[in-house]
Amino acid sequence: MYWENELETLDRKNLEHLQVSRLKKTIQSATNSAYYGNLYRLMGLSADSIKSVSDIRKLPFTTKQNLRDNFPYGFLGLPQKELIRLHSSSGTTGNPTVIFHNRHDIDSWANLMARSLFCAGVRDTDVFQNICGYGLFTGGLGFQYGIERLGCLSIPAGAGNSPRQIKLMQDYGTTVIHAIPSYLNRLFEVFQEEGLDPRKDTKLHTFVIGAEPHTEEQRQRIEEMFGVKAYNSFGLSEMNGPGVAFECTYQNGLHIWEDAYIIEIINPDTLEPVADGEVGELVMTTLDREAMPLIRYRTRDLTRILPGDCPCGRTHVRLDRITGRSDDMFIVKGCNVFPMQIEGVLMKIAEVGADYLITLDTINGSDEMIIEVEVKKDWFNGDITRLDKLSRLISGQIRDEVLVKPIVKLVEPGSLPKSEGKAVRVKELRKALNS
Ligand code: ADP
Ligand code: ZN
Repeated sequence: MYWENELETLDRKNLEHLQVSRLKKTIQSATNSAYYGNLYRLMGLSADSIKSVSDIRKLPFTTKQNLRDNFPYGFLGLPQKELIRLHSSSGTTGNPTVIFHNRHDIDSWANLMARSLFCAGVRDTDVFQNICGYGLFTGGLGFQYGIERLGCLSIPAGAGNSPRQIKLMQDYGTTVIHAIPSYLNRLFEVFQEEGLDPRKDTKLHTFVIGAEPHTEEQRQRIEEMFGVKAYNSFGLSEMNGPGVAFECTYQNGLHIWEDAYIIEIINPDTLEPVADGEVGELVMTTLDREAMPLIRYRTRDLTRILPGDCPCGRTHVRLDRITGRSDDMFIVKGCNVFPMQIEGVLMKIAEVGADYLITLDTINGSDEMIIEVEVKKDWFNGDITRLDKLSRLISGQIRDEVLVKPIVKLVEPGSLPKSEGKAVRVKELRKALNS
């Protein structure tokens, strides 16, 4: 059962054929933009440079910095009057990243979203609550259009106000939720505070979780707490937003829609392709976007292509869970650490609650990693020996994973600061890095 039978199961040869013809078209429209127009002219590149998918390597990469430097209209491949919407990142440092869409782009995105949801088992009989900011952030409207295209009853709930979210679920019999994983832990606590059990007191059966890195352990926790299946959803605003790659009901990696994107995995240092199946930086090219095509965009996200075919029959390759961005990694006491390694350890420990925060600080002239960990309510009862034992256990397990012994501080549930949107996992206070 597929949303688009032919496209999703197209054999690899025909899929590549389609990619080549769409890539040529993309280059043609990109050439209308000030940025690619100048660049390709200087380099003597055009659609004719492409005969096969691998010829894409003749084209230069595009970076976030290029987008910022040519803000706002430098990448537009169409006259401004054709545009119907923009989405943009918050832009806390420098110019924001903005992506423009024409009617075709919005339509194509809605279709990719509907396809993604169908692939994760969502159907038009579902009641879909989208717990996510509506506005410039792509998760609100991006999902909204896909949910409607698929034909579910949509509840555009927006983010926050957990008691109201729970009331909506109960009033309308919500069966599917989309939210960021860090929020779902909090939502579960509110269920408990209200004396409710989502397994018994709701009709929820499917969650779509994404927009931020999370571990398999985190997913399993969410599935157990709510009694649902949770599917991983990956996207980034530069590639529209959600609807780029999605898990099917086999939950074995995220099918990335190759009729809409060409993907490459490169070594971020050498910029050469990595060997098959190796982890590297995901590089993406849009194949079905008219207003603002992006070619060989360096996402900074680290992942790999999973080997083998998927039993669902879809031929589009599967990405492994995204472990984070290349710039998420921090170095402490000479060891390279990704926040997700720490989350993986924490989420396996039953006493650990919903949230954690990693702080890097200089204490007595040396680098320290302090991890504040929320502990479940029934555990945080003042029994010092018990808490002491738990913090030693956590510290030991983290040291085994990342080779640095952290200072672990156990804190009450709900006491760590909550961010408005995506979870902030690391706070950097080290003097050398800040000066
Ligand atoms: P911002 O760049 O401001 O975070 P985006 O909404 O475009 O805004 O975020 C996209 C990024 O979010 C991706 O590049 C990736 O790093 C992260 N992301 C999105 N979905 C997932 C996911 N399922 N797993 C891990 N990381 C994800
Ligand atoms: Zn599959």
